[in-house]
Amino acid sequence: MPTALVTGGNQGLGFETAKGLVKAGWDVVVTARREAAGLDAAKKLGRRARFVPLDVTDARSIELAARSLAGTELDTLLNNAGISLDGFDGTVAERTIDTNYRGAARVTDAFLPLLAPSANIVMVSSGMGELSAVSPELRQRLLAPLLDRSLLDAYVDDFIARVRDGARDLGGFPRSAYRVSKIALNALTRILARSLPSGQRVNAVCPGWVRTRMSGSGATRSVEHGASGIVWAATLGPDGPTGGFFRDGRAIEW
Ligand code: NAP
Repeated sequence: MPTALVTGGNQGLGFETAKGLVKAGWDVVVTARREAAGLDAAKKLGRRARFVPLDVTDARSIELAARSLAGTELDTLLNNAGISLDGFDGTVAERTIDTNYRGAARVTDAFLPLLAPSANIVMVSSGMGELSAVSPELRQRLLAPLLDRSLLDAYVDDFIARVRDGARDLGGFPRSAYRVSKIALNALTRILARSLPSGQRVNAVCPGWVRTRMSGSGATRSVEHGASGIVWAATLGPDGPTGGFFRDGRAIEW
């Protein structure tokens, strides 16, 4: 049976995507930062699911999770864990980016050795990460084929430093840590697509505006609807696309 690992799998879109995968006959490794919540989710998902603790902001926790799964081949890695904090200051910028962007990067690096030759990596991103929100100059730099991870990290670190300093000029980035975290996650998706072994795919997905704890009950989409596009990307076959940004299985603009 194919196996997927999902971060932040205890609730919201992560849990619903895990549910969709189990329904499709997949085995799922549900990871979560809170043990009780993770165990509960795995129990609800049934015998095809197991829980492994994993906090995406904690390198040691990621290392232990990867070690505990040694010998397991992952057909899909789902970077879903994310936060959206109120306010806008250096702490909010640092925490948001550390979870939504660096967290996905850390987890991907740690689990790459466990990925099957035709595995999918899915980045649960957001339309909030669209490049229309950045200055034309920065947009060009983020889309440049020469962009690499160290350059991307430097842009992101510069954004955090400017926010911390109370600068008006944020280097072309918008005044939203959440937006910047997803802009960076999308850029990471494009970089990884160029460097993964052929056969492996990485795509970013926007689930739409979904009624979860993050977006609240006023959001327009059910969690089932939001998760369906993630399940689509998680189960792409060898002929599937890579290096793209999708909503409901259809390509959208970066
Ligand atoms: P949610 O219900 O708040 O779920 C977020 C999940 O991420 C929870 O399981 C949470 O765990 C986990 N998480 C947060 N920080 C973590 C950490 N350091 N380590 C491990 N897990 C962590 O929100 P959601 O709407 O399902 O969000 C899932 C993803 O969809 C996020 O990446 C979000 O940005 C993206 N997204 C959501 C929407 C929307 O409208 N809902 C739209 C676009 C994109 P705890 O339960 O322990 O907090």
